[in-house]
Amino acid sequence: MDFFEEDRGERCLHHGDSRVRSMNRVLDTAALLHWPVQELRGGICAFSQQEELASVSETRSLLLESAQLEWRAVPKDWLEQAKSVASISGDLPRLSDVDLDVLALAVGLSLELVTDDYRLQNAYKNHGGQVRSVNTKGAGQVWMWELRCTGCRATFPVPSDAKRSKRGAVGECERCGSPTEIKRMKKR
Ligand SMILES: [Zn+2]
Repeated sequence: MDFFEEDRGERCLHHGDSRVRSMNRVLDTAALLHWPVQELRGGICAFSQQEELASVSETRSLLLESAQLEWRAVPKDWLEQAKSVASISGDLPRLSDVDLDVLALAVGLSLELVTDDYRLQNAYKNHGGQVRSVNTKGAGQVWMWELRCTGCRATFPVPSDAKRSKRGAVGECERCGSPTEIKRMKKR
């Protein structure tokens, strides 16, 4: 995994030089639900989170109209970038559309990402991004995931157009056609 270690170091240095310090950060829906409203000010969120938020709590959704959040549409190239970032760590198949929008904003704007979703945290950390937890302490380690065939046991990297679903098989083996599942990559 030397390649990724180096890559991460480089990105960090780069960001350290060029990034303007600001309170701006990208907030996932858990932060919108659980943080005090005054703490959310200036936070950046995707339009797709409005719907998600309203479906979880209408009251909270109304309350947040006064929170001075910055709602953003996600440009297509940022979304593609987010898919690529999440496929490199292998987290992509378990991310929802809203998860990807949130990741895309963090990647596109190079901002801190506030989320408890360990897959989002993992993908963004592996990319060199800064992550903060809403409720829990973030796990320190980055995990790499790959697809493994349940039939012939062949393993494949996660492609950036991987099928996504929260559970179950995430594709078919290109060798034998059996379902593939997500497994932690063994160190090599
Ligand atoms: Zn197979």
